[in-house]
Amino acid sequence: MSKLIAAAALAASLTAAPAFAGDWSLAIHGGAGVINRGDLSPEKDKAYRAGLDEALKAGSAVLEKGGSSLDAVEAAVKVLEDNPLFNAGRGAVFTADGRNELDASIMDGATLKAGAVAGVTRTKHPISLARAVMEKSPHVILAREGADKFSVEQGLEQVDPSWFRTEERWKQLEAWRARQKAALDPTHLYGTVGAVAIDAKGHLAAATSTGGMTGKKWGRIGDSPIIGAGTYAQDGVCAVSATGSGEYFIRTSAAHQVCARIAWKGEDLKTAGDATIKAIGDIGGDGGMITMNARGEVAFPMNSSGMYRGWASARGKGTAIYADEN
Ligand code: ASP
Repeated sequence: MSKLIAAAALAASLTAAPAFAGDWSLAIHGGAGVINRGDLSPEKDKAYRAGLDEALKAGSAVLEKGGSSLDAVEAAVKVLEDNPLFNAGRGAVFTADGRNELDASIMDGATLKAGAVAGVTRTKHPISLARAVMEKSPHVILAREGADKFSVEQGLEQVDPSWFRTEERWKQLEAWRARQKAALDPTHLYGTVGAVAIDAKGHLAAATSTGGMTGKKWGRIGDSPIIGAGTYAQDGVCAVSATGSGEYFIRTSAAHQVCARIAWKGEDLKTAGDATIKAIGDIGGDGGMITMNARGEVAFPMNSSGMYRGWASARGKGTAIYADEN
């Protein structure tokens, strides 16, 4: 097939796809990891689903009223940041020297504007700081003391670093120190949070927030605040938020790879997500992603045994934890 015919065939296959029908849609995650049936007590299972449900409600409330996908993903992620069960905001994992250093990023699919922060220590909602970087600074990523300073200048809510501390995460750090392993609780190795959404105008947005990985050191930064690795959104193509072993998501440009496969190879959402997860697995990484296409359809590709996740649209909502759960 000549290049011209191939390009025409690709364009035809893209235009043959049903158009955006004007329905809003939202998907969220609360981290991927080794989560097998029976690992979680019934109470914990219920608590995670309730936490996801609360975040879905916050994001849906924005979209139902005709609000923007950007406002919706920020609202959903803020609820997850406040929930100590998840590794973002309150409940973040500890660094090797016993601190909470938070990473977050957000992207607006309509403009390709993006904002991110890495290693911040005092902002109650790191996702709102990422949004402030996008909207109130000429930059995309701010890190550590500089980002903390920018947060104060922007008048964002500040907390004492002890706000982020939970006993469970501290025990995970002690276990890591004792054994130099990732965590005490294998059902919660990760726990990053994220959201993707499309609003009634067809604009996509994505957001991700995390404490990173237990025992991180030397100012380690994962994929979550890296645009194109942990987060990406582009109108007409897709929105992605990732969770898992961040180094591998950076090395595969995971979030952008999903969108590039859809835009340039004409792959459907599921094929693009699965192929990207396979690329991550091929070099030794693990985790999952929430992905949404320009019609608001969602897919949850993963190679870990579970990912806390939820979805909502005008047609209904649901939550799931285990990989084989619908
Ligand atoms: N991806 C995050 C990081 O590497 C961790 C996670 O998703 O749980 O910092």
